[in-house]
Amino acid sequence: MARTRGVSVVRARRGFRWQGVPTLIYKPAGTGFKNIIRRVVLGNREPDLPFQVRYFEIRNGGYSSLERHAHRHAVVIIRGRGKMFLKNKVHDLKPFDAVYIGRNAVHQFHQVGREPFGFLCMVAASRDRPELVSPGMAARLRRRRRAAARFIKI
Ligand code: MN
Repeated sequence: MARTRGVSVVRARRGFRWQGVPTLIYKPAGTGFKNIIRRVVLGNREPDLPFQVRYFEIRNGGYSSLERHAHRHAVVIIRGRGKMFLKNKVHDLKPFDAVYIGRNAVHQFHQVGREPFGFLCMVAASRDRPELVSPGMAARLRRRRRAAARFIKI
């Protein structure tokens, strides 16, 4: 990474990695996810940046937490194939599809196929904590939403 005052150039490396950007655990254990990692491409070393650009990658049939929160996500798929539960529907996702996840919209990403499923997610640097969907709320979602019934995982 080239650094001068107030700018960063973060070089791409093979395998959807970036120079100087470590692979992190997705979230603390026990928050309802499987086979997913996180890389903070921009925002950790740019204190003046009011948002972050993170890369998430899901492998081997894994999935992100089923959650909701007040902060918004802007997502751009860059690798593989996936499916997403968003609010009340399941959507197929492929590279360069873009998704806006609005305030308190329940969402979950799943990897499908052989290739890892990777996406960039832009998020405010200062934000509320995600609220996990509880077993009771998941049961209500499953009753109300046919799309959710077999798809969501907690
Ligand atoms: Mn989220």
